Amino acid sequence: MGERLQTGYRAKFRWLLAKVRPRRLDFGVDLLIRRSRALSEREAVPLSEALARVYEFTRWRVKKRLERTAACRLDGQPLGVAPEPPRFLCDLSLGGLARWLRAAGYEADALRSTGTDPVGEARRLGAVLLTTDSRRAARMGTAEGKPELLWIPSSLSRVRQLGVVLRDLDLEPREPRCMACGAELRTVPKREVEARIPPRTARWKDEYFLCAGCGRLYWQGTHWQRIAAQLEGERPLPAAAARP
Ligand SMILES: [Zn+2]
Repeated sequence: MGERLQTGYRAKFRWLLAKVRPRRLDFGVDLLIRRSRALSEREAVPLSEALARVYEFTRWRVKKRLERTAACRLDGQPLGVAPEPPRFLCDLSLGGLARWLRAAGYEADALRSTGTDPVGEARRLGAVLLTTDSRRAARMGTAEGKPELLWIPSSLSRVRQLGVVLRDLDLEPREPRCMACGAELRTVPKREVEARIPPRTARWKDEYFLCAGCGRLYWQGTHWQRIAAQLEGERPLPAAAARP
């Protein structure tokens, strides 16, 4: 477990540091791994937690550095052109994450059978492959732009895994999609769905949404609010980006 975790984080640190084109990339990666081990010992936290914290802090510093250099450059993204939101394919180890990505407003599919090649399927869909398999982590590469694959630590909870995806790709939560099938939700007049609303909900809610794909009915109940609150905590810039 420790070995696989470090292989994954090595690839992730390498991908992150390459953005600022350091002179000695491998040295930088080794340093971050050593810092994580030292943090784990010093504060008696599991290595998985120490690696996650060092990763968050490094990601935040890389972002700051890139913002500073972009401010002095004139060849950045043209203003007012929003890039297409990425879509995602979760491999078998991350099926539950697809539901969370949909709640955050992103198109996400989950692989269902071991017979499908995840890399080939992601290419076919034009999706970023999400995996906890550290043997695939090197595929994150160091090329600029959207990666082909993101390695996600299996040691994190689903909502923290979602946070890693959003922050790695600098994405904001969007309008929620259907958690069951991933299709868009559309506002529907209350009177058209009255028969399907539980009487107690109908008394205090006036806004309803229908899934364009599976027809499931949604309203902003307590479950929705809880999800929204958790998503809020996983936005691109965490408030607590303190040096670990
Ligand atoms: Zn649906």
